[in-house]
Amino acid sequence: MTDSTPKPQSEFISTIVHDLKTPITAVKGFIELIEQAGTLNPAQKQFSDKAIAVLGRMHDLVDDLLDLAKLDAGVELHLHECDIQVFIQEALETLESIALQRQITVQVEIGPEVRPIRADARLLRQVINNLLSNAIKYNRDQGTVNIRVSEQPGSLRVDVRDTGMGIRSEDQTRVFEPFYRGRGSAKAEGTGLGLAIVEMIIRKHGGRIWVESKLNEGSVFSFNLPRQRKSSHTISNEFSSEESDGVDDSFQDSNESLDSDSRSDQGV
Ligand code: ADP
Repeated sequence: MTDSTPKPQSEFISTIVHDLKTPITAVKGFIELIEQAGTLNPAQKQFSDKAIAVLGRMHDLVDDLLDLAKLDAGVELHLHECDIQVFIQEALETLESIALQRQITVQVEIGPEVRPIRADARLLRQVINNLLSNAIKYNRDQGTVNIRVSEQPGSLRVDVRDTGMGIRSEDQTRVFEPFYRGRGSAKAEGTGLGLAIVEMIIRKHGGRIWVESKLNEGSVFSFNLPRQRKSSHTISNEFSSEESDGVDDSFQDSNESLDSDSRSDQGV
């Protein structure tokens, strides 16, 4: 029996986007099979490689759209004690070859006072991956990326600093919008959805993310995660469905309360 209950729009979008993955994977598979069926001449090989690369980007876009739709629909957070240092090391292992190729130096500073933070591990990994990947992608060759983690009153703070292309002050509020891609970023691969996803994840944890940047000098993306969350009705509905963890959910540091606009456009 089919379910005739109307689905929320985000669920409907998720279903369509998810269904797109199958034909993308199938077409990619068939193009790969063409190569196995017989030797291609150089022009044919060039076109099939291009088609595979484009399909790879479509696959990434579909993955990002799915993440965004899920977050928008109010995904349930699975909270665990997370060691952010481990997530940073894992992300750096994946990005190491690109950083080496472009001779980008990466520095990590973890304050001795830093303790594990209660967060959704998969989503927090995604935040770290996106910010570090951008800090390398939009950096200059031989540039530097500095990641600093520190404890602040009532929250954990992470700053990701790069020496890259920077962001014009008028564009700084736009980088967290879905599909926004800055001038000059066309050369780098991307969907324009990474920071929108990151911002939504941080907001769902009751935190805040902001950017400080100077054109041609670099950017600092910073976020904080509160140690104690606001009560369920004051943040968002999805918190009310979390497993009870016995932690006092009252939010103590009023300076870090959840802003509707979680961005900043100050210069460095
Ligand atoms: P993507 O990298 O796929 O384009 P993002 O949402 O991660 O998407 O970033 C949106 C835009 O913000 C980028 O296209 C780029 O213009 C700008 N941006 C993000 N991170 C940086 C950075 N570290 N330095 C300069 N510009 C950045």
